[in-house]
Amino acid sequence: MLEILKRCRTEAGRISRFIILLFVFLWLPLALSLASQAQAAPERPRNVIILFADGAAMTQFEFGAYTARKLRGQDYALFDHVIANGSLGLMSTFSNDAFVTDSAAAASAMSTGHKVNNGAIATSPQGKALTPLMLAAKRAGKRIGLVTTAPVYDATPAAFAVSAKSRKDHQQIVDGYLALQPDVLMGGGRDMFLPKGAAGSARKDTRDLARDFAESGYGVVQSRAELAKINPGEHIQREAGAGKLVPGKWLGLFALEDMAFEIDRDKQAEPSLAEMTKAAMSALEGQAGFVLLLENESTDTTAHQNDAASLMHDLWAFDAALRVVLEYKARHPDTLVIVTGDHETGGLSPTYVRRKHADGKMQDIKLDDARLANLGNIKGSLASFVNKTADLRDNAAGHNAFKRIAAEYFPGVSFTPADLAAVINKTPSEEQTSYLPHNTLAQIIGKNTGIYWGTSGHTPEPVIAAATGPGHHIFQGYYDNTDFAKKLHQLLDIMQ
Ligand SMILES: [Zn+2]
Repeated sequence: MLEILKRCRTEAGRISRFIILLFVFLWLPLALSLASQAQAAPERPRNVIILFADGAAMTQFEFGAYTARKLRGQDYALFDHVIANGSLGLMSTFSNDAFVTDSAAAASAMSTGHKVNNGAIATSPQGKALTPLMLAAKRAGKRIGLVTTAPVYDATPAAFAVSAKSRKDHQQIVDGYLALQPDVLMGGGRDMFLPKGAAGSARKDTRDLARDFAESGYGVVQSRAELAKINPGEHIQREAGAGKLVPGKWLGLFALEDMAFEIDRDKQAEPSLAEMTKAAMSALEGQAGFVLLLENESTDTTAHQNDAASLMHDLWAFDAALRVVLEYKARHPDTLVIVTGDHETGGLSPTYVRRKHADGKMQDIKLDDARLANLGNIKGSLASFVNKTADLRDNAAGHNAFKRIAAEYFPGVSFTPADLAAVINKTPSEEQTSYLPHNTLAQIIGKNTGIYWGTSGHTPEPVIAAATGPGHHIFQGYYDNTDFAKKLHQLLDIMQ
């Protein structure tokens, strides 16, 4: 700039110098503001809480919100609080080897920032162990927690914490947890913590993992009543009595395998996702800050079975956990809250359409208030109904017993003799045949509720990343699920 000004020695030069200076003064403030925007680091959260609804994309959340408003007269925290006060992003979900991902590949991408093959747990297609988010968080000095309604060794929590060639390497995954020492580990899957030979054990060796966890300083809880007593301070004292002062670490194992769907849950015996969430946050709270993953697996499992009523109740249970998190955030504003999912399950299709049924009748189907009421009156999951009716035969006595039990479970839903035979004989119908007779039963119920399904598997519908709290802006936009991990690892770098 000075070079140019020196060259302006003539009268004409003085005019040009004036114009150049004018230009500089006019543009300087804008240039400075652009420069400062480019350098502005994202705000620094102390805690990061990821609420993860497995198998849920925007249609599922819309369904959860609409039914919450209509059937319960309640708002839905994802829309009314998180998105209303934060950012909304969308993510593509394809894996390294397939357009439609499974939970292992999706969680691996969202945890490590790398595409992997379906079935792999934070392991590259070349077999290299990648760095899961929780391992990075621990290295950054954060306390870490994994909470799920699935077995704790299931694909999502596993891919956020450890590496394994296959999601089926359950024993290797829980042994990996013992090595990693997450501060909180809660969910189902007690079968992998029991030594071979013990009732319910699924281990191939005689290690007693629950005991190993206890010996390495964990408080172990196995029921809702025990969970309610979690007091991090008390645990610190107990350790201090033994001459060792360590913060409380907790292992919660509330079911042999999966925890119950919300619609079927024994509310005295088994904790809800919200109750586990509350305990986990109180155990993790501290100066260091924490990273916590909270997963509802039942939003995926119910959708595989095409069980709309159970899905609805689990979307509400997810909302209850989110509310507990938002209450915590109100007291700890340095907490970043992210709501997400890994992929869509079921091709959930509440519909408005004219359809011809197998009996030849034409029917207009729409999810109006009457059909919604039918959905709201359903008392149990398809899975529990199928268990209860498993021994029935395709004869008059079987049909009568079926109708009696169905009237309790699905009031307002009518079954033709052909429907009864199809369920009792587990007859596949159309494309949904992965879960029988659940998928067949779901199609019959669909005639009374207006809720159809495209598949009993996963779909490539983009998933959401909604965020509120410090740093939430970086989750705005449309990006790949690997970018979700990159954003989180980037945040961890500045959180140290
Ligand atoms: Zn699934």
